[in-house]
Amino acid sequence: MSAPIAGVLSNLERVLLNSDLIQRRVAEMALQIEKDYAGGDISVVALMDGAIFFVADLLRRISLPVQVHTLSVGSYHGGTSSTGRIEMLPKLPFVLNGRRVLLIDDILDTGLTLGTVRDRILEECQPESLRVAVLLDKNRPRIREVPVDYVGFEIADEFVVGYGMDYKGHYRNLPCIGILNPTHIES
Ligand code: 5GP
Ligand code: MG
Repeated sequence: MSAPIAGVLSNLERVLLNSDLIQRRVAEMALQIEKDYAGGDISVVALMDGAIFFVADLLRRISLPVQVHTLSVGSYHGGTSSTGRIEMLPKLPFVLNGRRVLLIDDILDTGLTLGTVRDRILEECQPESLRVAVLLDKNRPRIREVPVDYVGFEIADEFVVGYGMDYKGHYRNLPCIGILNPTHIES
């Protein structure tokens, strides 16, 4: 492993999901999605920034026609738990009428982010269908229940970083997913 990544890795208390495991699961999810959407195309709505690597790896394994839209949504605002405030554009910047929409995020936590975006898509567009895919499903009580069609891994209720997920803008480029050493979290 290159020196800069090794340096960032040493800030982890432990690795939860290594890169091989993530890539294998992402490939399985891609196969399942390809099967379910066979014969047509997919309009992806990817929530940024957290889903950036998951979406990139997942979609490159799908050979169906795919349209990709991104939407910037935030709820952590630099901390290690949801603030409950969802920030996003006042109007969706794309049209999804009649489309088969796949909404993708990195992690389902309180359910506020995916629930809010899902509602907005259904209010502002008339998609033919709307499914949800997440890499991680955090095992915790939801503030909002969200129907999820594709889940990569279920994890315990801990704050994770890596593979797109950040702490104060750092750690997104880690190829694995891990738990930060508490000494690297500002109190
Ligand atoms: P929810 O709205 O379901 O509470 O949280 C979803 C969003 O919060 C995700 O899109 C992600 O950006 C962020 N999030 C939730 N849990 C974690 C976590 O453990 N680590 C990081 N880095 N972000 C998280
Ligand atoms: Mg997010």
